[in-house]
Amino acid sequence: MAEQIILKTAEEIELIRNSSLLVGKTLGELKKHIQPGVSTLHLDQIAETFIRDHGGVPAFKDYNASFADYPFPGSLCTSVNEQVVHGIPSDKVILQNGDLISIDCGVLMNGYFGDSAYTFAVGEVSSKKLRLMQVTKESLYKGIEMVVAGNRIGDISYAVQKHAERFGYSVVREMVGHGLGVSLHEAPEVPNHGKKRSGPVLVNGMVIAIEPMINMGKRFIKVGNDGWTVMSTDRQPSAHYEHSVAIVNGQPEILSTFAYIEN
Ligand code: MG
Ligand code: MG
Repeated sequence: MAEQIILKTAEEIELIRNSSLLVGKTLGELKKHIQPGVSTLHLDQIAETFIRDHGGVPAFKDYNASFADYPFPGSLCTSVNEQVVHGIPSDKVILQNGDLISIDCGVLMNGYFGDSAYTFAVGEVSSKKLRLMQVTKESLYKGIEMVVAGNRIGDISYAVQKHAERFGYSVVREMVGHGLGVSLHEAPEVPNHGKKRSGPVLVNGMVIAIEPMINMGKRFIKVGNDGWTVMSTDRQPSAHYEHSVAIVNGQPEILSTFAYIEN
């Protein structure tokens, strides 16, 4: 990740918004197909077709990460139950009633990235899982409230952590949010835990992806045998929500959207 934070012009923010909007529409399209009996590979194929039909390129497909031995094979990260993030879509992973699935989606269009994630319930899920989902999403919005010029990255981190831990959940620390723009992952890192008044100062033109990964049990994670899939060590469920957010006129402007999922 480059050290320098790249500030965006109003025109660039519009391009990131367009890509983020396509991510939101893709997640909305997927919502129609999430039900028991569906494979995560099927969801991936729907997403890839939808993104390409709308003029975008799936940003995660063939993504190279320093920690993995091979490029990411999917257009989506599909992480079920105790999987935290980076689950690989597969025809062998069939959604079951009561599962949680977090879907992370990225799009590249006109040279700019959008990035957003949402955790969906498959059929009827337990009230314990529903609460984890609700609190994780709330913690994302608590973080977004802190995206105000003059605040620091640590104010976002602190707000996310405080909310999640208030409910007895734990915050995954090894993976963090990030700046985005012409690259999917730019400076600064946006941790989901931390101290108030720490880290880089927020200024107009910054665009960051905030993405709490919250575990029902302990915070510890491990990477599966496939070299990508991150899961909780205690095999308790995990949830993940993400928005791409710009700072405009000193205030947060959410560029991605859950409207296509929730309305
Ligand atoms: Mg993402
Ligand atoms: Mg991200």
